[in-house]
Amino acid sequence: MMLEGRIALVTGGTRGIGLATARALAEAGATVVLTGRDEAKAKEAAAAAGAASGLALDVTDAKAVSTLVRGVAKEHGKLDIVVANAGIMEDALLGMIREELVDTTLSTNVAGTLHTVQAAARAMMRKKTGAIVVLASIVGEHGSAGQTVYAASKAAVANIARSAAKELGRSGIRVNAVAPGVIDTDLTSGLTEEAKAENIGKTPLGRLGTPEDVANAIRFLVSDDASFITGQVLGIDGGLVL
Ligand code: NDP
Repeated sequence: MMLEGRIALVTGGTRGIGLATARALAEAGATVVLTGRDEAKAKEAAAAAGAASGLALDVTDAKAVSTLVRGVAKEHGKLDIVVANAGIMEDALLGMIREELVDTTLSTNVAGTLHTVQAAARAMMRKKTGAIVVLASIVGEHGSAGQTVYAASKAAVANIARSAAKELGRSGIRVNAVAPGVIDTDLTSGLTEEAKAENIGKTPLGRLGTPEDVANAIRFLVSDDASFITGQVLGIDGGLVL
């Protein structure tokens, strides 16, 4: 029970990586609050993950993020762990990129992560301790045809982690990013069987990732076992980018 007594918040916890992370943190002893845009779905996911509660939150709304994070910290007396996981992915070739796609991707992935990290830092600053993990992606580090907007957003997320780590280290707050490869969730369900096989073929470990592969790495990064690790972007991709 490496996270016994810790209070954790996971955004976008209704399915996929967020749900697996909420479950992994709860199994390690943390009291977990998870969020999703729909309250009923968030409550259902919280019950499935063994989390303490499921709350409605749209991370594009800075005020709502700030209010929710402050409320969780107040209710539980502190906030030790925040996983800024909520994110969206929509593919478009350069010539097909609509302004709406740019707006929704940047407001969810970049501004949403930023709002969450800001609010987490405010809540953790008082106790001078805390661990934050954000969800970057291998495509943010290496680029991807047909995913220019998403890749740009995830490059920004990695740099939110690096910059916040520099700024918050003296306050005892660690900030890291994980950069998953292709993980089998709703987000990647649009990939054709051919595209999945191609990815598996390029992956030394010979399979797609599972939400638990990512959740286990996040559980490590927020634990005391990672107490001297900050500002890192940890690839979880089975070796895909090698
Ligand atoms: P899913 O699509 O399975 O889940 C996304 C989660 O984000 C859902 O819980 C959804 O909640 C939530 N969400 C989406 N938009 C918002 C919003 N505006 N406000 C609050 N919550 C929101 O995705 P994954 O689990 O696959 O991905 C999780 C994270 O990991 C994302 O940031 C993604 O970019 C990143 N990632 C995923 C990879 C993969 O291969 N799957 C690879 C690299 C990175 P709801 O719809 O219920 O509101």
